[in-house]
This record gives sequence, C-alpha cells and structure tokens, in this order.
Amino acid sequence: MQLDSSIQYLAGVGPILFKKLQRLKIETMEDLLFYFPTRYEDFSQIVPISRIKPNQLCTVQGKILEIKAQQTWKKKMSLTQAVLQDESGAIEIVWFGQPYLIKSLKAGDFITTAGKAVVSKNGFYLSNPVYEKLDSSPSQNIEMSSIHSGRLVPIYPETAGLPSRWFRSAIYRLLQTFSNQMVEILPNSILQGENLMPVSTALWQIHFPDNQEQAQKAKTRFSFEELFLVELVVLQQRYRLNKEKSPCLPFNLELTKKIVDSLPFKLTDSQRKCAYQIFKDLEKTRPMSRLLEGDVGSGKTVVAVMAALNTIKNGYQAALMAPTEILAKQHFQSVARLLKPFKIKIALLTGKDDKIISQKLGHESKDGYIPDTLEISRSKILEKAKGKINPRTKDLEVGIDFLIGTHSLIQDKVKFGKLGLVIIDEQHRFGVEQRSRLVANKKGADSLITQLLSLPATTIPGTLALTIYGDLDLSVLDQMPQGRKPVITKIIAPTDRQEAYCFIKQLVKKGEQVFVVCPRIEPPKTENSELKPKTPWSEAKAVKEEYEKLSKEIFPDLKVGMLHGKMKTKEKDKIMQQFKNKKIEILVATSVIEVGVDIPQATVMMIEGAERFGLAQLHQFRGRVGRSDLQSYCLLFTESSAQATQARMKALVTAKNGFELAEKDLEIRGPGSLFGAKQWGIPDLAMEQLKHLPFVEKVRESAKEILQFSPQLKKFPLLGERVKRFGKKIHLE
Ligand code: ADP
Ligand code: MG
Repeated sequence: MQLDSSIQYLAGVGPILFKKLQRLKIETMEDLLFYFPTRYEDFSQIVPISRIKPNQLCTVQGKILEIKAQQTWKKKMSLTQAVLQDESGAIEIVWFGQPYLIKSLKAGDFITTAGKAVVSKNGFYLSNPVYEKLDSSPSQNIEMSSIHSGRLVPIYPETAGLPSRWFRSAIYRLLQTFSNQMVEILPNSILQGENLMPVSTALWQIHFPDNQEQAQKAKTRFSFEELFLVELVVLQQRYRLNKEKSPCLPFNLELTKKIVDSLPFKLTDSQRKCAYQIFKDLEKTRPMSRLLEGDVGSGKTVVAVMAALNTIKNGYQAALMAPTEILAKQHFQSVARLLKPFKIKIALLTGKDDKIISQKLGHESKDGYIPDTLEISRSKILEKAKGKINPRTKDLEVGIDFLIGTHSLIQDKVKFGKLGLVIIDEQHRFGVEQRSRLVANKKGADSLITQLLSLPATTIPGTLALTIYGDLDLSVLDQMPQGRKPVITKIIAPTDRQEAYCFIKQLVKKGEQVFVVCPRIEPPKTENSELKPKTPWSEAKAVKEEYEKLSKEIFPDLKVGMLHGKMKTKEKDKIMQQFKNKKIEILVATSVIEVGVDIPQATVMMIEGAERFGLAQLHQFRGRVGRSDLQSYCLLFTESSAQATQARMKALVTAKNGFELAEKDLEIRGPGSLFGAKQWGIPDLAMEQLKHLPFVEKVRESAKEILQFSPQLKKFPLLGERVKRFGKKIHLE
C-alpha cells in the first residue's frame, strides 16, 4: 500500500464505500489523510459515573453489565440499551437506530464512551454516545489507543452518509502506516522562519490532537501550505505569462479624444484613470491581464470599448464575450452606437440562429438606436474573422474588426486573423477554463498572446483579488457617474405587499418601468441527485405563475410581460425590445436579467424569494435600476424570517456599494459564498484563510522569496512536484 494507491485498496472499502469516497474527491490514501476534521469534540476528561451532571457532555469508562436490543413498538425504531458500571456507580446507555451494535458489544466488555447525559424518569442515561472498546480493564494507559473518546475527538464533515467514526478509524490506521513516510514539501527556511509544525506531527495533531493548541498549530501549518501552493501556482503562471509577447498597441490620443467627445456624457475621473492604466498596458508587449473592477452601473463598458477602439485602429481585432445572448446583443447595439463615427466592422456571433453584421452606420429611432445590420451566415462570419492574405500587399486582411458574442466565441471553429484584445464581460458566468482557452488558442498574428481585459460581475475584496489573480493588474472604478441617486432598498413585510403594489402602480402611471424577479423553485429532491433536470424548468414555471398573477389579478390594466431562459431567441429579443420601448411596463423574469441588462428608465426592481439568491446576485439585480437620474427602488420579498436571512437582507439595505457588500458577505458566509469560488478548487483551509489579509500577505511574500531564489523550484524538487500536481487541480486565471 502506497500513499498514492487507490483508496479502494484500503481494508474495508468495498464498491459502495469507494463510490461515496469518490464523491468526496477522496481517491487515494493521501487524499484521505488530508481530509481534515472541521472541529473537535472535547471528550478528554474522564469522569466517574457518579459525578455525571445532567445535559453534560462527558466521557466515562467502565464495564458493560448487560446489553440488549429491541424495537420500540410505537415508532418501530431499534433501541440498544446497556448498563455501564465503574467503581463509582452505573449508568444506562441508549443507542437509537443502531441495531448492529449488539453484534459488536457484549456484557463484560470494557469501553470508553462519550456522549450527553440526558435526564430520564429514573436518573440519567447516556444518549447515543460514541464508544471505543478497550482491550481490558480501564486501569491501563488507554489514551494512546482510544480514538473515539477520552480525548479531543475529531468530527469530520459527514457527507455521503459516511460517519465521523468511519473516518477516525480509517485515518488512524493510515496515520500509523504512513505518518513516518510523509515527505516535507515546505522548505526548511520557511518551516523554521514561520515556526510551522513539520508535516508528520501536524498530520497526527490535526486528526488526533493532544489539545486545542496543538490542533490549531497543525491547522495553521496546513493553511499555510495550501495557500502557499495556491500562491506558487498563481505567481508561476504570472511569471510565465510575463515572458510571452503580445502585440504592442500604441495609445492614439486623437482617436481617444474623438470618442470621448462623442459620448453623450462626461467620463468620470475614475473612468479616465482606469482607461489610462489600460492604455499604458496595451503599449507594452508584456501581455496584459487586467481586471477592471467596478460596481454595477459604474460604466465599465465604455472603458472597455475605448480600449477596443485603440486596438482596432492599431490594425488588430478585438473580441468581446458576454455570458448571455441578451447581454451580447445589447453590447452589440451599444458598441455599434459608440463606435458609429469610426467605421468599424462589428459582428455579432451568438447561438444558433443569429448571423448579423453591422457594417455601415445606423440611425436613432424612437425604439432606440438601430444599427444598420446585415444578416450573413455563420460561416461568412467565421471566414471574415479569420481573414485572408491580400496577394498584392501580402498583408493579412480581416473582414471583422470587432466580434461580439456569447461563449460561442470560444469554439475551436472560431479563428481570428489578428486578435489583439479579448474583453470578457461579467466573467463569473464563465467556466474559468473556457476563458483561458479563448486567450490561449486564439493567439494573434506571429503567435503573439492577446491582451486580456476582464470585467468581473462581482466586486472581489482586495485580499481575494490579490490571491486568486496573482500579481494581477487591477483597475478599480470607484466612482459612479454623476447624478445617480442611490437605490432605495426596502424589505417588504408580507402585510405590506398590497401597499407595495399600489406604489408600483403609481410609478408605472408616471411612465417608469418595473422588473420582477422570481427565484427558481427547487425541483423535488430525487434519490439520485444526478437525475435532477439540468435545465431550469422550474424557473420558467415560477415566472409563468407570477406572470399570470400579476397580469390578471394585480395589474390587469398595466402591460405585463415575461422573460425566461427557456424562451426562443427571437421571443427573448422581442420581449427585450418591447420593454425597451415601453410596450411592456412590468417585466417578470428569471435571473436571466441578472447581469448587464441596461434599461435606464426602469426604476423598480422587485425580488420575490430574495433569500434564495446570494448577496452578490441580489446586488446585481439591484444594479439593473438606478441607471439614470430618476429615483429607483429595490423591493425585497422573503419567505423566511430566519436570522441569517434577515442579516443578509439588512446588509443589502445598508451597504452602499458592491465593495462594501462583498466584505460583508465574506464576513457573514465566508469566502465560499463568493461567486465562482466553488470553481476555483481552492482547498478549504486556504479558503478560510482568505479572510485574513496579513496571513495571506505573509504567505505571498514567502512564495515570492522562494520563486526569486529558484524560479522553477528546481532547488525544491518535492515542492515543485507538488505545485505541478496542485496546479492541475485549481482553476484560476
Ligand atoms: P457596468 O459597469 O455595470 O457594466 P455600464 O457600462 O453598463 O455599467 O454603464 C451603465 C450605464 O451608465 C450605461 O447606460 C452607460 O451608458 C452609462 N454611463 C457610463 N458612463 C457614464 C458616465 N460617465 N456618465 C453617465 N452615464 C454613464
Ligand atoms: Mg456591464
């Protein structure tokens, strides 16, 4: 048996157990050893039976006098009852629903057992205690061998129906076999410098600690290790990227002045500053990998478009990828308008049936801006994006300068002749994998790496951004366009619902518009969760029901429409268009409208079942309104009065912007709550530490030092090996 042997070779692991372990991502012996407890139960004090106090968690040792199993006649539950005796007295033990116990325990056995003393008619009994069989009478030193009681007992996250008890025994055996063979991957200088526990001791202490202090020390060591690996991976990737070359795209002042002057508004100072940072990056041949962070509505699009324009006028192409068709289309329209004076060939590539290319101008109409578009086939778009060599000049000429689309952009078929800049909007909706594919496969001319600008949908707190994006380039739009009034956010009690409807009616009569968001109704849980329908059918259902209610009962005299992901593209387009030109006044929708949608005259965002959405997501919804100088409102309806829900809703009411909210969310629910966090594959302990900036910074510094000393980690082969393996598991940039 080796550390990397499959876990199925562990004694007692049959096919069923193997499956369960796999579900927990435990594939090898090593994985199991590194499956850490979430907490410890203090069973370290052995008390004489006579001194047990009611409702106390206690550990006792003694001899089983009698034991019997029976069924309760009422509930048909199995009961195992025993009497345990030590020198001071005796106590009853009751185990519920564990009929098999009678096979492993018999009268005369010595056990250590720990659990809660519950008051009954005739004294106390120990309810469902954990136990450990002793070889003989408890006078010997049993501490060493007892793993389920008489100590700090590890409690594992119990998932897939695997009890902590199983983990304790299995891990204990593994520790006995392997703890001496564990190789230390952390360099000595770091171990000593940071006063970290060596790996084999730490493994013992994290599973079976001598005391809380040792447990904490062990945990610190592994937190450090996990985070250290994350940082090494990220930094190495970053350094590697820095060695690549990307096209140099000099800043064009005149051009930029022209577009700025053509805007219907004045750029904020923040927008100017960020645009400048991006322009500076584009001039360098070091590939840009910049994050443009900004609260919803802070005006990221226009900054990105200015970068694209600069790229295009330098003879390269730009691509803009959006998470939904609706958003891609909207971008297509607004980009066409913004770039109207510049004669740029812009095309839209979305799902199945859309082949539009805007070639010339366009016109303003009462329905908004209509780009002058031409439908062409998908294959034509692909051909034009790829371009061809002009036989006379020997130059590569492309037929599309700016390609906007959904994730259809990253299909292998889509090839760019001279891609200079990739912009990824609202990126949390993308598998991070896909994103790097777009950058990697679509190398520009002369195998140059494209510049990358990403506009994340959620604001990520600084610590986290630093960690997960390495030495990232970060631009922050920390200013909202002038004239914006903060959205008034209110939690509406069920009794005030009618009043809220009245309020909405008044606003609509004044010409304002309303979004109503419905959460997904969870489909009934089936035994096999993999069988759950993948499509959000229940989302559509919720929307239909709400639509019926609002259009027929509540607002029969207003124009109500609905929008959900299952609708056909054409239908969705039509609805969005109708909402834009006020043929629809109240739009009932699913979370499809979560990101990007820009309808400035909409002033009310009403959210049903608000507790079912994450804070970041709610903030995104709220960002759909308050996009003009009209006062806007966000009305939250919840079905839950749970404290946690209320705390989250309050955070939403009080937080002034997305940055503040992200910090609060981090506080309330931890880093796992952040959008996309699950996809990153960062181990739990490291994740937990992301909250602690000083710790994260210390680890980063250590990682930098090590890489400075040995960039490829050649001087630390064990560490290098581990970093390589680890890098395959996480997906960041
Ligand atoms: P987000 O950062 O959420 O992507 P958008 O780029 O969609 O925001 O911009 C939101 C709205 O604000 C758009 O209607 C846009 O035209 C407008 N806008 C952008 N910058 C400014 C500005 N400096 N002044 C006024 N309005 C602006
Ligand atoms: Mg946007």
